Amino acid sequence: MTRMLIIGPPGSGKGTQADRISDRLGVVAISTGDIFRANVKGETPLGVEAKKYMDAGDFVPDSVTNKMVRDRLSEDDVENGFLLDGYPRTTAQVDYLDEILATGEQKLDVVLQLTADDEELVHRLLGRAKETGRSDDNEAVIRHRLDLYHEQTEAVVAKYAERGILTQVDGIGGIDEVTDRVMQAIKAAQAA
Ligand code: AMP
Repeated sequence: MTRMLIIGPPGSGKGTQADRISDRLGVVAISTGDIFRANVKGETPLGVEAKKYMDAGDFVPDSVTNKMVRDRLSEDDVENGFLLDGYPRTTAQVDYLDEILATGEQKLDVVLQLTADDEELVHRLLGRAKETGRSDDNEAVIRHRLDLYHEQTEAVVAKYAERGILTQVDGIGGIDEVTDRVMQAIKAAQAA
């Protein structure tokens, strides 16, 4: 049983690493960004609402995001643990997640932060923009998303560091190399 978060700036490869961790540990990976993108694609009311914010590189409001996460965490497949990718991103979301977990008498085991320098991230994301055509991957929006990460999500990381459950992993390097580091870090954190 593992309940984990993966946090990292845009372009740090957290989605890729989340999928690999999920395979190896047999826990479901839940990406709020993926859920939003699926809703945008399906033109659901949630997707229509979220798209305005996503295209501008802004956070989708907590009122929308928190409820979506609460609903997702009430499904049966999270009984053996979960890996949340991209949530929480604000300290208000940390408080909300605390409440959800407290209701189920659950706690987080590990919070993993992938680190990378801003210029490397901008370079990677501009490359990804060419390949995938993601509408939030142009330079102005990328820089805004990075600013939000520094302004808001680093405070989230600090909260978990205070609680003693933060593990940081260098996200620069080949995908396999980073996965090896990530798996080692999780093992070490679980043994601690
Ligand atoms: P991601 O794929 O994690 O980079 O997320 C893509 C976009 O979805 C973000 O830029 C936000 O607009 C939105 N999003 C994802 N997770 C959250 C969250 N926890 N809070 C607010 N907005 C989010």
